[in-house]
Amino acid sequence: MSVRLAHIGIAVRSIVDARIFYEEVLGLEVESVEEIESEGVKVALLPFPGGEIELLEPLSEDTPVGRFLEKHGEGLHHLSFEVPDVHRSIVAGIEHGVETVGEAPRTGAEGREIAFFHPLFTHGVLIEICGRKNGGRDGDPGGVGDGAVSELSGDAY
Ligand code: ZN
Repeated sequence: MSVRLAHIGIAVRSIVDARIFYEEVLGLEVESVEEIESEGVKVALLPFPGGEIELLEPLSEDTPVGRFLEKHGEGLHHLSFEVPDVHRSIVAGIEHGVETVGEAPRTGAEGREIAFFHPLFTHGVLIEICGRKNGGRDGDPGGVGDGAVSELSGDAY
């Protein structure tokens, strides 16, 4: 099973401010900035070999990342791993009592399938899984059904 780090999500109050450290000190470059209305967040991607930093700036206070900042301040928000089969991982989670946050799977940046596992069930870190770019999964277009939609709100913390 090939799993790799996709990105490290960091909640920030301002991408304009935060990118200075990552660009000027670490030497990374912002490759893209995208607003994802459905998640209420603006995302800046700074790739490096083997992964990416994902800076997450809330579009308003009343969003999952906005509420995260309110409670925790800036900091590590989630780790994202690319997995061979998002559906299979969600089912494995269900089998082990691991709840997802929000709709799972759903479509994330770059059209990838994504899902989030609640930190209560992952030893304290919100874990995102994502599929390969451009789908990358053969057959079975169906989801795992509504059962995968958590009772939990969109807030992981
Ligand atoms: Zn992410």
